[in-house]
Amino acid sequence: MALNRHELRTLLTTLTARLLDALAADDLDPAVPHQVGAALVDAHLTRPTALRHTIAVLGERLAGDAADPARQARLAALQGGLAAGYATALQERTVAEQKRVSAAALAARAAAEQARCASEAQLQAVFSEAAIGIGIADTDGRWVEVNAALCAMFGSTPERLRSRHIDELVGDGARSFQDTYRELASGRRNQIRWEKAHRRPDGSVLWTDLVISLIRHPDGRPRHVVVMVEDITERHELRQRLRHQARHDRLTGLPNRALFFDRIGAALADPDTQVGVCYLDLDGFKVINDTLGHDVGDQLLRIVAGRLAGLLGAGGHLVARMGGDEFGILVEAAGEVGGQLTRVAQAALDAVRVPVRLPGQEITVSASAGVVAAWRTATAADLMKAADTTLYWAKADGRGRWATFDAQRHAREVRRFRLAARLPEALARREFFVEYQPLVRLADNVVTGVEALVRWRHPELGLLSPSEFVGQAEESGLIVPLGRWVLAEACRQARAWQAADPDRPPLVSVNLSARQVRDPGIVKHVAGILAQTGVRPGVLQLELTESAIMGVGDGRGGVPEESLATLNALAELGVRIAIDDFGTGYSNLAYLRDLPVHALKLAGPFVSGSGPLTGESGSSTGEAGARPGDDDGTGTDHVDREIVATVVRLAHALDLAVTAESVETAEQAARLRELGCDNAQGWYFARPGPASSVTPLLGTRLIGSIHRDEPAAGSAAS
Ligand code: C2E
Ligand code: MG
Ligand code: MG
Repeated sequence: MALNRHELRTLLTTLTARLLDALAADDLDPAVPHQVGAALVDAHLTRPTALRHTIAVLGERLAGDAADPARQARLAALQGGLAAGYATALQERTVAEQKRVSAAALAARAAAEQARCASEAQLQAVFSEAAIGIGIADTDGRWVEVNAALCAMFGSTPERLRSRHIDELVGDGARSFQDTYRELASGRRNQIRWEKAHRRPDGSVLWTDLVISLIRHPDGRPRHVVVMVEDITERHELRQRLRHQARHDRLTGLPNRALFFDRIGAALADPDTQVGVCYLDLDGFKVINDTLGHDVGDQLLRIVAGRLAGLLGAGGHLVARMGGDEFGILVEAAGEVGGQLTRVAQAALDAVRVPVRLPGQEITVSASAGVVAAWRTATAADLMKAADTTLYWAKADGRGRWATFDAQRHAREVRRFRLAARLPEALARREFFVEYQPLVRLADNVVTGVEALVRWRHPELGLLSPSEFVGQAEESGLIVPLGRWVLAEACRQARAWQAADPDRPPLVSVNLSARQVRDPGIVKHVAGILAQTGVRPGVLQLELTESAIMGVGDGRGGVPEESLATLNALAELGVRIAIDDFGTGYSNLAYLRDLPVHALKLAGPFVSGSGPLTGESGSSTGEAGARPGDDDGTGTDHVDREIVATVVRLAHALDLAVTAESVETAEQAARLRELGCDNAQGWYFARPGPASSVTPLLGTRLIGSIHRDEPAAGSAAS
């Protein structure tokens, strides 16, 4: 280490003192100058000028008495000794340094060599011990080296493997791969990854993940190709298994909904195939699950699945479990698919119906099915939706049967459903309005009342008659708020008419649906509206059909308690009650005795003479019935005449007034008058219309027809 200035001064002072002491002695100790020379080297005073200056300074300063030859000789020896000591020390130091350098160099070389050996050994170990197969080939595709794993994978020896071209191992004959490989071998690409199946000599299949990389010369030219092959057979099989599981039902092993959809999609995409679907659902399966337990339910499903797959799968149809107790059968045909579809559906239902024998019990189930042939633009989802709808029809028609899709029926249902969905909004937006149709006293043809009939002015579909939405409103329950609105509206109008003619206010007849009759708040509501509007109770008539009164029963059990209570409460309010569309329902006069009813409205079919009291020929919506020109002189007409006469007689015996509906001709009117009918309503007298057009007719005599050429708005029943 270099000395600082102070240390240097101290050292030089010390050395000078030693030299002076040595020079002063009679006999010069030769070791002293030698040591001082070496000390200078030690102190790194080794620049070429250092020694020269030192010798010069000694010569000049220590020369002393020139007459003392002994001292001169000692000085010369001292200088020589110092120079020698200096030179020797310098040399020794150089040698030592050289030794150190070469020793270090040797050590470094040895370490590098060792590291190289180690890494080569490691590489070799990696190559030969690796679990993945590794092979090195030249750019022409000849193997240079292959490892043990590669040989094991292909069930081959290194020699046999090396005799095969790389293409045979990694290629699969596919052009795309060969092209890609050529790109790699020619240096235009660095790596390829490839998943591929190989057949081993023993016939088993090996799935591999191949990675082929290019090794280049330092100047970039392609040098070698390294192929690494991983055996992914297990992974591949697992993947296959999972894929199978994802597309098959675990309980029955059948294809599941996802696979079924895919296959429909594929079939629809084939222009040469006609596609049909049979969508099957067990009847009452829930009951089996609930009563016999889920194990039995599962067994039953497995057995049904087995039967369907055995019977129809063998015929080339795809049988799938769609979920729960639902099965799908896909039918494909080169020509017309319809006939085959219905045969498949029938065969499937028959197969399900065969009793299932389980330990200790025998179960018999049935199934319903929806059958749909694909139309030109159908998607898989369309087809399944249609099948679902059709299945629902089959269930509704009594189960244990199949139904075929009817696009028109479906369109009607969709339209009805859409209408129902928009009903609440329509009510809020005041899209409904009420028309009134005069009721005429047949004795003198004077208008004594009106029937209120609701209409919907739909923003897109235009004017809709009640037959298009009342049924849906009834089903959804929306008839309750709608009916309340109609009642309020009709009473508001009744109040105006009552104010105009307080002595003889016209009767205002309002229809009440079954749901409204069952509405617990109905009596309170009617009373409330009467109070609010000030309409006298006797001015209001409520029309109820027989089925609305009887509820869902068959009528044999008599009038249900609740209906009776409601009717009595309404009658107690003082409002009149009429049975609407009499003759289309039970047509049972017997029970009328017990009801607080004031009038019967005879349904259109009697009036036109087109049907007996069957309940089938008429329609509660007033749509059917009119058969102009069938009114007189025929045999059936004679029977009808008798029936009407009897009904009128019986009604009168029960103190009921009779109103004939849908009177369209003078002859009908005359005949009904002759038979004793009290009142009539129909186009012959007047079509339904707005209050403003009906008001002038009130209390007047309608002589003959006032048929308008254009039906009044809303006479959609025509
Ligand atoms: P409905 O109570 O039997 O009403 C008589 C139906 O016969 C009305 O049909 C009326 O326009 C129609 N009609 C009248 N004269 C003739 C005729 O000479 N020939 C023919 N063929 N038909 C005639 P609309 O208005 O379409 O009503 C149909 C049904 O809708 C009604 O039958 C009633 O059951 C129901 N409805 C109408 N308005 C309401 C309402 O506000 N509430 C409830 N719940 N139902 C209503
Ligand atoms: Mg009515
Ligand atoms: Mg009616």
